Amino acid sequence: MERSVETINQVTEKLRMKSGNEPEFLQAASEVLESLIPVLDKHPEYIEAGIVDRIIEPERIIQFRVTWVDDAGKVRVNRGFRVQFNSAIGPYKGGLRFHPSVNLGIIKFLGFEQIFKNSLTGLPIGGGKGGSDFDPKGKSDGEVMRFCQNFMTELSRHIGPDLDIPAGDIGVGGREIGFLFGTYKKIKNIFDAGVLTGKGLLYGGSLARKEATGFGLVYFMDEMLKDKGISMEGKITTISGSGNVAIYATQKAQELGAKVVALCDSNGYIYDPDGVKLQTIKQIKEIERGRISEYVKYHSKAEYHEGWRGIWTLKTDIALPCATENEIDGTLAQTLVNNGVLAIGEGANMPSSPEAIEIYLKNKILFGPAKAANAGGVATSALEMSQNSMRYSWTFEEVDAKLKLIMKNIYKNASNTAKEYNVEDNLVKGANIAGFIKVAESMLAQGII
Ligand code: NDP
Repeated sequence: MERSVETINQVTEKLRMKSGNEPEFLQAASEVLESLIPVLDKHPEYIEAGIVDRIIEPERIIQFRVTWVDDAGKVRVNRGFRVQFNSAIGPYKGGLRFHPSVNLGIIKFLGFEQIFKNSLTGLPIGGGKGGSDFDPKGKSDGEVMRFCQNFMTELSRHIGPDLDIPAGDIGVGGREIGFLFGTYKKIKNIFDAGVLTGKGLLYGGSLARKEATGFGLVYFMDEMLKDKGISMEGKITTISGSGNVAIYATQKAQELGAKVVALCDSNGYIYDPDGVKLQTIKQIKEIERGRISEYVKYHSKAEYHEGWRGIWTLKTDIALPCATENEIDGTLAQTLVNNGVLAIGEGANMPSSPEAIEIYLKNKILFGPAKAANAGGVATSALEMSQNSMRYSWTFEEVDAKLKLIMKNIYKNASNTAKEYNVEDNLVKGANIAGFIKVAESMLAQGII
């Protein structure tokens, strides 16, 4: 016990000194490290092999300049990143984020989380993440295309279907993946479908990939509730965001009988007491690329409120944060609890602060952490890679059935691991430990590298 605590303390201290200027990475890594003490007690060989020291250090970091010309003819410069974090169980895999808040620390936090999430899927994929501080909002299609072309001109040197396979994340959807894939194909002079996932259906994409993160989140939530004898039917549900994850979480929650009453974007939130009409949201967000405030023009009973975080002050049975990191702090978590929330499932990566998680667990709220609950997206990306390798496509129903089974297994694995380590009902620890062990064992087998 003492040796394990000492190891974790030393690694955490080193991390604080080296990564103090990367608060999100520090936050994500500290949470995992704290979970690992009982694992090191059981496996002293991990200490001998320096597994914990090694796992928090990315295998490779690539940072590059992206230069492009805007519609007014002005030269613009952005920063591009790819963090290839861990390849012990498979090629690096993780999305690209285009958002003005992107910096190396954010990409490191996302890449680190991805190691354990990918391991939990049961599929052979390592952890990585990338992106840029480019803001696609308000840019023309031509500007987005020129940016993507320049971004891929450099990234193409570092990725490949057996090396590193990027996908989408915030600000990177079907349009961006199309431009990125086209450029990769042109530069490499090869149709390597398996180099990117989230592709369009006409050129190697998988059915159900677009829906997968949101659907998977709701499958996970349903599984967690069912385990306690609770049904989603009739549950008031609040979902933050109105992007890829939020839209398809709404769709599946509605299909399972939940009543989704609120969604948001980075300006504000809408509340529709009759239940959100998803077709209107899809029209505004997927087709017009507009703001969520426009929803109230179509539905007179709905309200729009400025300030998106206000969404977490609504009374709700189920909360699905699907926008961004640290959206629920301790105060909002306490508000959710005071308002009688029953279950929380994280669609976004790290949307709850450490204080918020402490409050959920103290109050025995059912809680599905991101690594486990939002793993459906990357799992289906791995299914897209399988189909690309086979040069064959499964039907929507086939992919959806595989996704459902994967989410069920992730829940079981996290929950059984929590029981095994005497932290019953703590899926944060259960998921961290289950994800870690597979990677640690593989690192051990592959020697000190
Ligand atoms: P999208 O870009 O499609 O949508 C993001 C949504 O969240 C938008 O409504 C956006 O509002 C809002 N949002 C983003 N950043 C902020 C911010 N800083 N403050 C307030 N609102 C914000 O992204 P996704 O739906 O793909 O991703 C959402 C979350 O899910 C992220 O945490 C991502 O890492 C995670 N995730 C995504 C997966 C995927 O398959 N796409 C897989 C697993 C996790 P606005 O449009 O106004 O900016």
